Amino acid sequence: MTVRVRIAPSPTGNLHIGTARTAVFNWLFARHHGGQFILRIEDTDQERSRPEFTQNILDGLTWLGLTWDEGPFFQSQRLALYEQAVRTLLDKGLAYYCYCTEDELEAMRSAQKARGEAPRYDNRHRHLTPAEQAAFVAQGRQPVVRFKIDDDRTISWTDLVRGTVTWQGSDLGGDMVIARRAPVGEIGQPLYNFVVVVDDIDMGMTHIIRGEDHIANTAKQILLYEALGAAVPQFGHTPLILNQAGQKLSKRDGVTSISDFRKMGYLPQALVNYMTLLGWSPPDSTQERFTLAEAAAVFGFDRVNRAGAKFDWDKLNWLNGQYLHDLPVPELTDLLIPYWQEAGYAFDPVADRAWLERLAALLGPSLSRLDEAVAMSQLFFSETVTLDGEAQAQLQQDGAAAVLTAILAAIETRGLDAETASGVLKEVTKSTGLKRGMVMRTLRAALTGAVHGPDLTQAWLLLHERGTDRPRLQAALAVAQPA
Ligand code: GLU
Repeated sequence: MTVRVRIAPSPTGNLHIGTARTAVFNWLFARHHGGQFILRIEDTDQERSRPEFTQNILDGLTWLGLTWDEGPFFQSQRLALYEQAVRTLLDKGLAYYCYCTEDELEAMRSAQKARGEAPRYDNRHRHLTPAEQAAFVAQGRQPVVRFKIDDDRTISWTDLVRGTVTWQGSDLGGDMVIARRAPVGEIGQPLYNFVVVVDDIDMGMTHIIRGEDHIANTAKQILLYEALGAAVPQFGHTPLILNQAGQKLSKRDGVTSISDFRKMGYLPQALVNYMTLLGWSPPDSTQERFTLAEAAAVFGFDRVNRAGAKFDWDKLNWLNGQYLHDLPVPELTDLLIPYWQEAGYAFDPVADRAWLERLAALLGPSLSRLDEAVAMSQLFFSETVTLDGEAQAQLQQDGAAAVLTAILAAIETRGLDAETASGVLKEVTKSTGLKRGMVMRTLRAALTGAVHGPDLTQAWLLLHERGTDRPRLQAALAVAQPA
């Protein structure tokens, strides 16, 4: 048997981290077994589906490296197939028209509530006589199509993650709507639980791997497989992704869509690595860093947890930093340029390339996300620098003015490279008789406006090339030595 699995997102929002993680598990499972991974866009909800969300989903999956073998298939283009399947169930007597109005259904639910019962459809139109049906039609009522669910059915399956799962037919809410209201003789818009099964049968899915919020759907869907005379695939329900408070990760937790993670400067290889760890652990549980292909080689549902997976920003940032620090400088520079452009920094990506690469090399080791480079590099692009409190205090120290004067004098007559820069610092330390630390801190405060930061010589050289070191030293001298 060739494994065939799918990811079936609804284009009613951007690609969500939960959906992407489900895609990761499906992809790993398919690749592990040399099977196929299929992409299906579930766009039957025409009011809420949008083409830009479909694009966002395709872009997100592509960016993460979750390549698909077939599709994307669009449910909106397959309506004839669903209609035919609804008619099949009607013909077999496994589905029927229900003419209840919304008011009648509401009254039914209120009465159930008043009796302390769970709301459900009481199957009242399951056995309408032809005369009763004709009367409803004559009243102009439009029916839905309901699929029969027997209360005394026990539904059981061996879940790839959760082991044996058992549901009682009576807990599924009564006969379920599979097609919305439509004029008599027509089949209305088919609903999720139905079309998903028709598609999964038609597309030959062998395993359905999705979030555990679909467990109740699975019980209903198994009944539909049987009714449609198809083999029931295997199911695996993956744990939900939780926030730090242990609740399902939602929009309220801020960033949840893959495009947001991308904007924040996470690398796809880091994000996908992290998502793999959300609910799965590799056989060598100390291994935290791996590629998708490496994970696929050892992936299996025996190592997928049942418990929800807490989303840990610190761990994601750490992993992302690891990947960032390993990037070759030209690649890192290519990734940073759009952030610098977006920030409005003045530079020419071609003419200034060598300078930009040196800046990327300087900042790279401190980054855990690409967007952090915006704040860190501002001082290199700007003409002037604002002194923070510590830098101001540093420039008030005895000897600061002497240091700045001596440095300015030393660079008056010569060009600056790594060697001359360290020569100048030695000379100034000697000529002023001050400690080297004092000289360095003063220079750093003058050039960068802070007393901590990246390698001082490299920073100085970068500023020197932009011609901003001398004016900053002069401005700092005015602070150190007020007129
Ligand atoms: N469209 C469904 C969703 O996005 C798919 C669920 C499934 O995999 O069956 O949740």
